[in-house]
Amino acid sequence: MARSYVREARRRGLGTRRERIGPVVERLAQEHADAEIALRFRTDLELLVSVMPSAQTTDVNVNRVTPALFEKYRRPEDYLAVPQEELERDIYATGFFRQKAKAIRGTMQMLLEEFDGEVPSRLEDLVRLPGVARKTANVVAAELGHAHGIVVDTHVRRLSQRLGLTRNEDPVKIERDLQRIVPRPDWARFPHLLIWHGRRVCDARRPLCEECVLADLCPSSRVPVVPARVEVTSPVDGD
Ligand code: SF4
Repeated sequence: MARSYVREARRRGLGTRRERIGPVVERLAQEHADAEIALRFRTDLELLVSVMPSAQTTDVNVNRVTPALFEKYRRPEDYLAVPQEELERDIYATGFFRQKAKAIRGTMQMLLEEFDGEVPSRLEDLVRLPGVARKTANVVAAELGHAHGIVVDTHVRRLSQRLGLTRNEDPVKIERDLQRIVPRPDWARFPHLLIWHGRRVCDARRPLCEECVLADLCPSSRVPVVPARVEVTSPVDGD
């Protein structure tokens, strides 16, 4: 169980989660104005296909594979027109290529049978697609402008805990905690902001607290700071 920084925030007099979330989003948005999804795609179908193999690999790896993939496979039918082994070879570099090729083909089949070959934007439809877990569905829905949840990856989990926004370990519970405090219009960009901050500043092993714009709002900051004066913008029910 990770140390709970929720209580630490109270001990340091930093304000409640609801009080701090506004300034946290605002400062991260200023600091990482370029924060966006790192995967490269041009269409809804390319978005879906690039997010699917991104599990257990890096976005950089996926971006190396997808330009050639998207040249060759332009419609759902194209993924079904070749033997599975051929698609496996085409996505080999992303790892777990057999599982991923099977999932992509299953998804293409369902897109054709149930969605007229289009990528649905509703979370409840996306999670029905073979191999599309909630995290993948959340990423796709958010990029399509229909954020139904908040994507929780390793960076989002680590930063949410360090910032004292959640006491939980389980991604589903962390997402629920974040949904309670992050304003809905920010659901899509919030994970990107945390991911980019995690990569650039709040490293897992060596967080650069002395350079961090959140240091006075963060209960796990390693530098001594005067607590920020935060405005209460919404009713506070606990922390
Ligand atoms: S103050 Fe340190 S621990 Fe807190 S978010 Fe910034 S880098 Fe991470």
